[in-house]
Amino acid sequence: MVAEVQPSLNLKTDLFINGEFVPSSSGKRFATVNPATGEALAEVAEADKEDLEHAVAAARAAFESGPWAHMKPRERGKILMKAAELLAARAEEFGRVETLDNGKPIFEAAKIDMPAAADCLSYFGESADKLYGDTYPGRPDAMLLTLREPVGVIGAITPWNFPLLQAMWKIAPALALGNSVVLKPASVTPLTSLLFAELLAEAGLPPGAFNVVPGPGAVVGAAMADHPGIDKISFTGETATGKAILRAAAGTVKRVSMELGGKSPNVVFADADLDAAARGAINAIFYGKGELCSAGSRLLVEESAHDALLEKVVERAKKLVPADPLNPKTRLGSLVSEAQRENVERYVESGKKEGARLLAGGNRVSIAGKGAFFEATVFDAVSPEMKIAREEIFGPVLATLTFRDEDEAIAIGNSTIYGLAAAVWSRDVKKALRAARALKAGTVWVNAYNLYDPGLPFGGYKQSGFGRERGHYALEEYTQVKSVWVDLT
Ligand code: NDP
Repeated sequence: MVAEVQPSLNLKTDLFINGEFVPSSSGKRFATVNPATGEALAEVAEADKEDLEHAVAAARAAFESGPWAHMKPRERGKILMKAAELLAARAEEFGRVETLDNGKPIFEAAKIDMPAAADCLSYFGESADKLYGDTYPGRPDAMLLTLREPVGVIGAITPWNFPLLQAMWKIAPALALGNSVVLKPASVTPLTSLLFAELLAEAGLPPGAFNVVPGPGAVVGAAMADHPGIDKISFTGETATGKAILRAAAGTVKRVSMELGGKSPNVVFADADLDAAARGAINAIFYGKGELCSAGSRLLVEESAHDALLEKVVERAKKLVPADPLNPKTRLGSLVSEAQRENVERYVESGKKEGARLLAGGNRVSIAGKGAFFEATVFDAVSPEMKIAREEIFGPVLATLTFRDEDEAIAIGNSTIYGLAAAVWSRDVKKALRAARALKAGTVWVNAYNLYDPGLPFGGYKQSGFGRERGHYALEEYTQVKSVWVDLT
């Protein structure tokens, strides 16, 4: 079925199973809403357990016996490279759909997210035949080999903040290595996954290798986690959801990888280039409306640089006014939903109540009476015990803390349950590298923030998860090792 609410989008909104768009078996549909206007964008088919059975059967058949299973890795790679070209050429169109569904600025969706998704696809397309096994020279009487083989059917469960890009970090390496995929996108942002399914088919992906089943996490996601026909779950989302999936996956001893939440410290030493650090601090927390797992949501500043840095940060935050996400000049869009805005508001109230000092923002905003917009918000005088310093807010809210010396910076930096990302700003290379080593995080930027490359792994320490996306580590995540003993006697 084609979207009825906004026919101009010309989107297919049924489930994508075995190379075809099909209605859900229950006939149910759910609305996806443009958070910047509150208007429904499309009615999407809602999968349930029965639909999941069909998707898993199609993925299993593609993996075991379909053309996908017998294709040379380079041929698989070429299909992904073709898809990357198609996506890059349609970045504006895909970006527009992402913006309408998520509320992020079109500048980010079309100029950054979609090109990055295409780049990720081509990186893994090129990698399809670049993961080698070993030979072990340990025995004169045998030839000892290892083979790297695909895991099988991958269940990908993804969040709403970077809907297609996050999914791509899973889909691209999984497909490159010959797995098949069943994707359950977040219910608030299902559209670009469906659009991408069509694009993959156009690029030549055989039926069943990629399937999309939008539907409630508690129904479809939970059923994926304990489904005996799914060999691995690759999950990105909240830590609490990740824990539920881990428990459910135990029943079938399923492989899992988890990209979870964060409360990342952005540490500025007094000897840093403070203009660059202020720009970095703004990008760290307000890019993606702060709905970013790696957001630099805690600004840790050395006492002697506090006033100078904060003046610059606050000045920039006040200029960052929420605006129409479809305007190419907009840099702060709408939060993903009214519910998310209410969450953010609760955290702002808690910050005020616990005694943090509000220096900028703090209020909801509407444009022409509509939308889930929220001001760029900066708190100062935050202490590590406050809720806004410990919990992931997932919105445009910065908590500023101060430290006296390097040891205290590291102690505060490492004081949450999370360990996804961190940054250090300093002109002293030894100090910066000592801090980079001491911070417990899966990614540490030095004199930078929010820079990504498909070849550099991404993932968490502590309760930010385990497993790595991107780079050759991702290739390992989607393969398993077989040892072969060849008797030579
Ligand atoms: P959620 O954990 O709520 O949802 C993520 C996905 O899981 C959605 O598809 C959701 O479906 C599904 N889901 C919900 N409940 C279950 C369940 N019981 N079993 C299986 N699947 C389920 O996260 P959000 O979508 O709210 O995303 C925001 C979170 O994601 C933040 O905490 C953020 O830090 C994290 N994140 C982490 C990243 C990383 O790389 N570490 C990157 C991006 C985000 P439905 O939408 O239907 O509820």
